[in-house]
Amino acid sequence: MTSAVAPKGAPSEIAGHIMQAMRSMGVSPIPRNYQLFYEAILGNHPDLSRDFAKLGPRVRQEELDELAALYLGTHGTGAVERAQNRIREELEGVLALLRQEQVSLENYNRLLSETQKRVNAKQTLSAELLASAINLVATATGETLANGEKTVEGMVQRSREMEAVRKELDTYKRIANTDSLTRLGNRRAFDERLAALYDDPMVLPVTGLVLADIDHFKKINDTYGHPVGDKILASVAAIIRAALPRDVFVARTGGEEFAIIAENKTMDEVMEICERIRRTLEGRPLRNLRTGVDYGPVTLSLGFAMGAQAQDPGDLYVRADTALYCAKNAGRNRTMLYEDGMAKDYTGKSWLIYKG
Ligand code: GH3
Ligand code: MG
Ligand code: MG
Repeated sequence: MTSAVAPKGAPSEIAGHIMQAMRSMGVSPIPRNYQLFYEAILGNHPDLSRDFAKLGPRVRQEELDELAALYLGTHGTGAVERAQNRIREELEGVLALLRQEQVSLENYNRLLSETQKRVNAKQTLSAELLASAINLVATATGETLANGEKTVEGMVQRSREMEAVRKELDTYKRIANTDSLTRLGNRRAFDERLAALYDDPMVLPVTGLVLADIDHFKKINDTYGHPVGDKILASVAAIIRAALPRDVFVARTGGEEFAIIAENKTMDEVMEICERIRRTLEGRPLRNLRTGVDYGPVTLSLGFAMGAQAQDPGDLYVRADTALYCAKNAGRNRTMLYEDGMAKDYTGKSWLIYKG
């Protein structure tokens, strides 16, 4: 394999070096391969460069795609492309089956009309002529039916394939929308859900948006270390999920921040949901079950707004964020509902500057 040492020089020289490396390894000069070579050769991902260096002198496309999926996160895209190709193939198959079926039916139709013409043309029918016409029609009917059965079988098989592809795509979509640390929805899932509130004007007014942020999480990280911080984040997420009705959507939208979209709820119901989460957390010291270390309780600040208070989903987000900001400033570990005139000095995510 060619060296994974970062070439120095102008971008055009780097591009030349990459193309040369791709040629020498017999790799197709397609954009996704170029991207992989670029990242591996420039050494932006040391682990990628290491694994890349282990490839043999002639490398297979699948090996490259695996590396790209592992280090560049192109797995989803590849999967979608593959699914699209498979669907295209299946549809071509269906069309071919239907064309065959059409030819078979046209032949059958032609034979029936010819037989009909011949039978009509004779004033008197001999028994032999009738018998041969019946035979002819019976054989053609049998063949047409057999062809029809084959078509149906083929169609069933193709639709099974398409169902499998659909399931695969669903799985990829789920992975793409899931936060790997907490198994909750991620920012992308949240953005989609929030955007969907624009679709039906009846939904927004009865929707509550809650934004929640763990209090003094930096201190937890500083005291126990980042890996413990991660475990605590996962535990908090599990407690939030368990305290919510099943139909209520929750996502981890950023570091130690969560968002809840509660549809068909009154303001009181949303307040009750928030307080249930807050009190549960406050009353449950988190412990390391293996070592017995007690990390103490973790607290959460929550702010929410109701769709009826907002012009649109974007406005709803700003209002919920304003309420969260006020909950932080008012001393944390509390839930606040957005009110008009709240936090006039609010300029976005900056409650930190009021800390201290
Ligand atoms: P506040 O009460 O104002 O929210 O204080 P805070 O300390 O929670 O807020 P700040 O924004 O200062 O700190 C958030 C911290 O969350 C900083 C960052 O190190 C930590 N964090 C963000 N994402 C993760 C993560 O995925 N894992 C861990 N362990 N920590 C994270
Ligand atoms: Mg915080
Ligand atoms: Mg935060």
